[in-house]
Amino acid sequence: MTDQENGKRFFSLKLKWALGTSIGSFIIFSIVVMAMFSAFTQNLLSSERRLINTGMDNISRQLSNTDMVLTKQRISNIINPPSQGDFNDGVDFKRPIIQELSDNHLIVNVYTPKHQLVFSTGKRLVKPTFTNQRSVKMTEGPKHKIIAGLMPIYSRHNHHLLIGYLQVENDLNAYMASYHQIQLVCFFAMCLVILASGLLGYFLSMFLLRPLGDIHDTVKAISKDPTKNIRVPKVERCDELAELTDMFNEMLDRMQRYIDQQTQFVGDVSHELRTPVAIIQGHLEMLQRWGKDDPKVLDESLNAALVETKRMKNLVQEMLDLSRAGQVDLNFRNEQTVVNDVVHQVYNNFKMLYPEFTFTLDDDLHSAITANIYRDHLEQVLVILCDNAVKYSTDRKEVHMSLSRGMNTVEIGIQDFGEGISPENVQRVFDRFYRVDKARSRKKGGNGLGLSIAKRLIEGYHGSITLESSLGAGSLFRIILPIVKTAPKNQSDKSIK
Ligand code: ADP
Repeated sequence: MTDQENGKRFFSLKLKWALGTSIGSFIIFSIVVMAMFSAFTQNLLSSERRLINTGMDNISRQLSNTDMVLTKQRISNIINPPSQGDFNDGVDFKRPIIQELSDNHLIVNVYTPKHQLVFSTGKRLVKPTFTNQRSVKMTEGPKHKIIAGLMPIYSRHNHHLLIGYLQVENDLNAYMASYHQIQLVCFFAMCLVILASGLLGYFLSMFLLRPLGDIHDTVKAISKDPTKNIRVPKVERCDELAELTDMFNEMLDRMQRYIDQQTQFVGDVSHELRTPVAIIQGHLEMLQRWGKDDPKVLDESLNAALVETKRMKNLVQEMLDLSRAGQVDLNFRNEQTVVNDVVHQVYNNFKMLYPEFTFTLDDDLHSAITANIYRDHLEQVLVILCDNAVKYSTDRKEVHMSLSRGMNTVEIGIQDFGEGISPENVQRVFDRFYRVDKARSRKKGGNGLGLSIAKRLIEGYHGSITLESSLGAGSLFRIILPIVKTAPKNQSDKSIK
């Protein structure tokens, strides 16, 4: 069921990534910018405050130089004192201090002790609240916030004589202009950062997630047509997605092999079953036409049909064994068997079953050796190999069995001196339904499954089975199984059926 069918909207990973990086950079950038912005504006504001304070100090010092209440005339005299003839390198050194401050966007107002405005360097911004304390604070101005300082002026000659009030206002126009300018710059920088990080995140994710897109396309193509032999293009990188792509391709290869094996198996099985079914059908048709009244034909046909039915039964059993042999690792993982016992048992049974054969057992083991294998399976493998040794022996009716020990392994050998197998067939005899001489093997009742069952069983227990053979001289099959050091358990006492 897709997300759309689930009622969820598809939201691309690339967009999520882009959105994530944008939000992330927005948050980080906002914090940094806010910190910088507030530090910068605080700094600006403090210098404006400092300016007011210095101004108030300077002006009050000038104005307090009298012991009379401040009037317009007196202030005018203080601001523009008559030339005192101070010369400094020939330059007239007059300093109209209040005028100088007013140039620096400060508005200076002087009030009488009775709160009458007697002097102002500009349009007053706020009405002061008169107190006998010096105060410098931010208040709401006509357009925006301003800083206003107010202080009483006492005569320098008589410290208790209040001669007026001084109000200095800073309209903060320059500060506000800088404030808005920085705000604008930050806003554009923020937009740029969000856009750039979003785009970067999008393109980066597009590049990084490309293998996911390829995997998606491959899965889609395979689900449309499971027989399609396509793979995800190789990723020339070394990261998680490259690993995932490789693993995915390996999984597809395994699946493909499995499908091929299944198809091949069904083909092989139907091919194998076709012959006995055709033989039984032929005999039954013959019986239907002529054989009902001819006891000889009737007898022959019934016998042939019975042989073929038995063969089919064997074939079905062997196919079942083969499919079960593939799962021993799962179902019989903890089984242990004393190898000596099983080999001796099979050897004795075959000696009894085929008295015309000479069976020899060369046992080099001096103690009981336990291998990690289910007893019935080891017995089944030995029976397959001994059966073949008997089946494919020619004039020299001898079968040699051997038992020996490697470092951590036990080795069982089964050798015959029969027809042997040519080098090109040595590997193929372990394939399913493979018979060197199909007709001859069929006559001997073989289905070509024995060795593949044996190989699957032994390999299922982490062992190996090898074959050395020479045409006309005989064959030697070797089974190698890992030894278990612990004591055996669940010894079953089954013999060959
Ligand atoms: P089958 O049931 O036909 O014997 P196997 O899988 O046991 O099937 O063996 C596959 C083929 O390998 C046989 O058909 C036979 O041609 C060849 N083969 C197996 N064992 C021997 C042997 N000991 N000597 C010669 N040929 C053998």
